[in-house]
Order: sequence, then C-alpha cells, then structure tokens
Amino acid sequence: MTLALDKAKVAIIGAGPAGLGAAWRLQELGFENWTLFEKETYPGGLAASFSDAAGFTWDIGGHVQFSHYPYFDNLMDRLLGSGWLRHKRESWIWIGERFVPYPFQHNIRHLPRQEMRDCLEGLIRARTESPASPPANFEEWILGQFGEGIARQFMLPYNYKVWGCSPRELNCRWIGERVAKVDLERVVFNLLDARDDLGWGPNDTFRFPLHGGTGAIWTKLAGRLPPERLVFGKRLRRLDATRRVLHFQDGSEEDYDILISTAPLDWLVRRSDLEDLKDAAGRLAHSSTHVVGIGLAGEPPEHLRSKTWMYFPESHTPFYRATVYSNYSPNNVPDIRRFWSLMLEVSESPAKPVDDERLVDSVIDGLLSARLIEDQASIVDVWRYRAEYGYPTPTLSRDEALGILLPALDELGIFSRGRFGAWKYEVSNQDHSLMQGVELVDRLAAGSQERTLGVAVPPAP
Ligand SMILES: Cc1cc2nc3c(=O)[nH]c(=O)nc-3n(C[C@H](O)[C@H](O)[C@H](O)COP(=O)(O)OP(=O)(O)OC[C@H]3O[C@@H](n4cnc5c(N)ncnc54)[C@H](O)[C@@H]3O)c2cc1C
Repeated sequence: MTLALDKAKVAIIGAGPAGLGAAWRLQELGFENWTLFEKETYPGGLAASFSDAAGFTWDIGGHVQFSHYPYFDNLMDRLLGSGWLRHKRESWIWIGERFVPYPFQHNIRHLPRQEMRDCLEGLIRARTESPASPPANFEEWILGQFGEGIARQFMLPYNYKVWGCSPRELNCRWIGERVAKVDLERVVFNLLDARDDLGWGPNDTFRFPLHGGTGAIWTKLAGRLPPERLVFGKRLRRLDATRRVLHFQDGSEEDYDILISTAPLDWLVRRSDLEDLKDAAGRLAHSSTHVVGIGLAGEPPEHLRSKTWMYFPESHTPFYRATVYSNYSPNNVPDIRRFWSLMLEVSESPAKPVDDERLVDSVIDGLLSARLIEDQASIVDVWRYRAEYGYPTPTLSRDEALGILLPALDELGIFSRGRFGAWKYEVSNQDHSLMQGVELVDRLAAGSQERTLGVAVPPAP
C-alpha cells in the first residue's frame, strides 16, 4: 500500500532508535511534514546513557554495537566518524565457582569430570535420538539441541533468570542467531585438544562509542534532525484512533494522518479507543530490567582485564549478566588510571519479583561471592535504573496476539514498530529497531517490503 506520504501529516511517538530511524529516513527522502514526540527530555530510549554526579557514565545494561545492515553501519560511521572503539568479545560464564568461556557447550572441559560427562552424554543422546515431534516450547528446544546435562546446568537456569519465567512458557521461533547452537565435533575436539573456544556468533566483535556511552549515538542522530520537529518532554496520554488524535499529558492535542508509535504496544492499545484489540494486547508479556552500576577505585583484577561480559546462571547471584563497562571505553569512568566500573542486570517479572530495597546489597554480595570485587571498600559509586519495559517476552501466545494487533493497527494508519512497538525480541536490538523505522518509511513511500519485521505488503486498495 503506497500512502501519499507527501500529503500526510506524520506523528512519531518516541525518540529511541526506531522513532529516530523513521524520522531520519523521512528527512532523507525529503518528507518534511512530520513531528516526533518524546516523553523524556533526552533521546535514545533504552539505548540512552547517563553521566552521574561522580563522573561515571552508564548505559541501561551492557549495550554493544553489531549490525546486520550496511545502511545502519554507514549511518553509525557518519554519526561518530573516528569516535568508535572496536572490541573483541570475551564473554564467560560463572558456574560452580569457576569461569567457563562462552559458549558453554564448546567449553565443557572446564567443568568437573562428572558434570562434563553429563553434558557430553546429553549432547550425544540429543544428536543420536530423533525427537518424536518438533519442540513445542523453548525448554523442549533446549533439551533437543543440548541434551539434559547442558540444559540442567546452564541453559534452563540461565534463561529463567533472563526472562523471569520458565523456558516452558516461551516459544522457540525467536531463536535464530540469538542462542549459540551445538557443533558436536567441535565440542569433542575442544575437549581432546584442551582448547578454549570463544568465537561464536554475530557479536564476536563489536564497537562502542569512545565518549558518552551508547547514548552518544542517538544524541548525535537527534542533533542532525531539524530541532523544531523534535518535541521532548511531551508524553502521550491517550490515543483516539477513530478521530486520529493524540492527547498529551500536558492537555494538548495533535491530529495526524499516519502515526508511527514506538511506545509499548500493549500500553498504546490500552490507552486507546480500540476496544476490539484490548484482549490481544493483554496477552503480551514483558519483563523489567534493573541496572546497577558499581563505580570502583583502583584497577580491575587481573582476570577481568580483558573480559567484556559474564553470564550468571546460578540463583545465588541476583544478576544474570555483568559487564566490565570500563573495558568498553576509558571515558566511562572519571579517570581510568584511578577507577573502573561494573554494570549488573537483574530481571523482574510477576513470577520473579525483586526486593527493591535489598537489591544493591544483594548485588554487592553477588560480586563478592563471584570474586568480581575483593571488598566493599573499593566501591565509590552506585547508580541505579529500572526499565519497566526491559525485554519483550516471546511467550507461546505472542505471535497469535501480534498477528491480530499489527495488521489491525496498520489498517488504521497506526504503525507500531521498534523493540516494544512490534514486540519481537528477535529483531529488537538497536540496528533492528532503527531499521524497522527506516523500512516502514520506505514501505509508506514506495511500497517496499519491511524485511526486518517480515511484514508482507498488503495488496494496493
Ligand atoms: C538490558 C538491555 C541490554 C541491551 N543490549 C543491547 C545490545 O547490546 N545491543 C543492541 O543493539 N541493543 C541492545 N538492547 C536493545 C536496545 O536498547 C533497543 O534495541 C532499542 O533501545 C530499542 O529502540 P526503540 O526505539 O524500539 O525503543 P525504545 O528505546 O524503548 O524507545 C522508545 C521511546 O519511546 C518513548 N515513549 C514511550 N512511551 C511514550 C509516551 N507515552 N509518550 C512519548 N514518548 C514515549 C520512550 O521514552 C523511548 O524514548 C538492550 C536493551 C536492554 C534493555
């Protein structure tokens, strides 16, 4: 469907990567009748960064740049030029009082003998026994791919910690390149040759801004757009989809012909007159993310000098991931000769509540027990952030709900895109989100396919 974009009044909700991507593409193609509304006073959304009073910079969890798109890469080059640092991923798993290199299955030689045997036996069984039926959920997929040993020791507890729900409640259509699969030969030869095998996957190398954290990218991008079209501190309160009117918290209203929304989809429908869609929207689930930044005096211990991030599957550490954030850029701390920093992520969901008051203490206990820090005396800064919408959960009923919601909204000229706009975890990184905005504008301007979301173009009316 080609809408007359040149005649349409376009409203964009949200100045995260998806909303900014849409705005950028509109501008690039010469469409000027658009306005972007953002509730916060800064751009970036979940990819924003913050500098605290002690001079430390923080992201909302460890953000790294690795892209699937030449368009995105070119834009990143244009925005930051030489202001990028390039890193090799070095990620590890803390389990049974030791670090095992990631991916776990390629490095089981680090486990005690019995655990190693269990993992290998499970892997061989999974490879040789063909399942009776395709996996019905993520837990079955894990067992089928990895076998009992790896599932029990790492994959099931780790995924529970990330998602805040049982892998049995998740579908297995989102996996793609998100989960490292198994190469049995490689596993066996790594064992025989006593080799650490760290290279896997799309983020094997990544880049990070030299200054200002991940958010520097989005501040730069917003700064290249016409300032009169970006309205910050403007919170959408209610959508009148029938009259095509936006009602804002400050009492003002705006009409539109086309709405590009990157606000959470369930929230948008709930705050609208779209009664028929409320049931489907109510079936979408999300988890929240707590981020705790710990600023430290001195230097990182020797064993953390080149690590990028670490996974924590065990229940006695509250965080599922720790990032050595000062390894990403020396400018993430006030003076790299005197300070370093760690950033911890903790998930929260109805099934996995978090005791807010105890959170920092439990994170520090976890750091001590995993020997990431030696004592509390070196902590000079604690920074906290809670994202109510952290991860869009790929539940068993997600795709059915999205199959109702997204086409129905499209028909009404409401295009819900981005991490929580389209609710597809598998395409919800920064590059995917920006490209969802770009590809949507291309579709509206020229009828092309939205490849990232996999949305087929409906026949022309
Ligand atoms: C812990 C964590 C780690 C991550 N790590 C990585 C990583 O390593 N690499 C990577 O590429 N990506 C990573 N991501 C994902 C990345 O943050 C997202 O891809 C990206 O921010 C999504 O962009 P978006 O524009 O779709 O949504 P958002 O960033 O959520 O932006 C939506 C915007 O809409 C605004 N908004 C919402 N409601 C309203 C309203 N009512 N009125 C006005 N404005 C509103 C919000 O304030 C926000 O600015 C991570 C995310 C998390 C949570």
